[in-house]
Amino acid sequence: MTGVSPAARHIRAPRGTELNCLGWQQEGALRMLMNNLDPEVAEHPENLVVYGGTGKAARDWAAYDAIVRTLKTLKDDETLLVQSGKPVGVMRTSEWAPRVLLANSNLVGDWANWEEFRSLEARGLTMYGQMTAGSWIYIGSQGILQGTYETFGAVARKKFDGTLAGTITLTAGLGGMGGAQPLAVTMNDGVALCVDVDPTRIERRIAHRYLDVAADDLDHALSLAIEAKEARRPLSIGLAGNAAEVFPQLLEMGAPIDIVTDQTSAHDPLAYLPVGVSVEEWHEQARKDPADFTRRSRESMARHVEAMVGFLDAGAEVFDYGNSIRDEARKAGYQRAFDFPGFVPAHIRPLFEEGLGPFRWAALSGDPKDIEATDRAIMELFPENEHLHRWIKMAGERVSFEGLPARICWLGYGERHRAGLRFNEMVASGELSAPLAIGRDHLDSGSVASPYRETEAMLDGSDAIADWPLLNALVNTSSGASWVSIHHGGGVGMGRSIHAGQVCIADGTELAAQKLSRVLTNDPGMGVIRHVDAGYEYAGTVARDRGVRIPMTEG
Ligand code: NAD
Repeated sequence: MTGVSPAARHIRAPRGTELNCLGWQQEGALRMLMNNLDPEVAEHPENLVVYGGTGKAARDWAAYDAIVRTLKTLKDDETLLVQSGKPVGVMRTSEWAPRVLLANSNLVGDWANWEEFRSLEARGLTMYGQMTAGSWIYIGSQGILQGTYETFGAVARKKFDGTLAGTITLTAGLGGMGGAQPLAVTMNDGVALCVDVDPTRIERRIAHRYLDVAADDLDHALSLAIEAKEARRPLSIGLAGNAAEVFPQLLEMGAPIDIVTDQTSAHDPLAYLPVGVSVEEWHEQARKDPADFTRRSRESMARHVEAMVGFLDAGAEVFDYGNSIRDEARKAGYQRAFDFPGFVPAHIRPLFEEGLGPFRWAALSGDPKDIEATDRAIMELFPENEHLHRWIKMAGERVSFEGLPARICWLGYGERHRAGLRFNEMVASGELSAPLAIGRDHLDSGSVASPYRETEAMLDGSDAIADWPLLNALVNTSSGASWVSIHHGGGVGMGRSIHAGQVCIADGTELAAQKLSRVLTNDPGMGVIRHVDAGYEYAGTVARDRGVRIPMTEG
């Protein structure tokens, strides 16, 4: 330990071109780990919690210090092994091997539940890695913003003539990911009414320009929403309250709600606040009696979901936003929890069929001009893609950077490697002032098995087959990614998902170009083959047109 108390730590990734490590691959990992814990980026950095309930970047402060120390001396042919946030070994590998390999929160099937996980966590043996928290590629709420924007855009096209103007979306959860919802709705010209129990989350989203205003109470929130809906004016409103109380109240009042979803941390019953518990008492009560807290939070989730079904019956567009709230409500005995679908089968699957997913990059220089230059490069690379241009322009104008400047945009098979190679050239030529970290969310087309989310309702019933994310991690490791991770339980909670991540550092070298071209082709390629294998016709066309080899269709 360094002797610095956790509360006194204020972590911020180094900026500029001076190296703290022996090479940029290691430096990239160091800066992205630190960036995950920057108070501007992390939801609760004092506990190493980045986002998504208790998603952490390192097991504890001693482990964090040891990771930093080791990265600083790690050689170009060595690999650091991280087991659920703790560095456990350094192995001699090769220049082509990842500099870091991480495995987070993995448990053997029969033991894969929260009770077992928490008992192991309490003994200091594991940590919850969520998705990009434990794999060091979280970039703040922007990381989910485009996916959320795409989802609400798909809802608009499906039901509201292509725009959310004149509609009210009701949702809850203004945390690290859920905080993207208000901006994604207003970017689609709609009104968002967002409920969170914790007023500090509302203030944080307003400060980061993701949310427009805070309402004083329910009546005030509803009158603001109705006024903006009638004027067809985009507006996002934060309301402090418990969704399990506010949603039923709004239903009872006959509020004119058009779209309903939710992004509270329902995947973890201890990270969802039950009715009758104050925010101040929350964590103490959850710690004292987790079993009783779980029972009470599931009971509240049942009331919350029951109200969502009530809105569905009243004609609203209702979908689960990937936090497992339907299954938690079902566990509390509510029978109609699965009456509304998850967002992937409802809106995202066709994008996954062509390997489209959340491609992202961060400027290790810390200089926003580097992101401006990459924004221009993306628009030049894909001149015909109007939707992408609209997104990049809007993101440039409306997204405030949190931590290292970063950008996200959804690109598919055949596109990502072109972007990666162009960025690498820009580093080499000096158009960018330092290397970039290029990665993605684990929520991608070929990197997750998650039957309540990414793989819900697969055509061939293969929802729970978890070979795909493991193959994805192996292929990225073999292709030259800078760090690769395999996690369990991200997004939807323990026992419900297995997923993999990868990050590549574009440092301008020829070796990086070779690695980037392989990783950024093969990684989305996994999405195409996963969907071809499940029988999706469009994925088959993509594979044929873009040259993805599928042995069972050859010969
Ligand atoms: P977070 O923990 O940062 O935020 C959750 C928020 O919910 C907190 O602000 C908390 O105060 C609030 N909350 C808890 N109980 C509440 C209640 N009863 N009523 C109202 N508010 C309540 O989590 P996050 O990173 O924002 O993620 C939210 C959920 O979305 C998680 O379950 C996560 O796994 C899931 N997720 C979905 C996607 C997606 O693409 N759909 C992506 C990432 C994460």
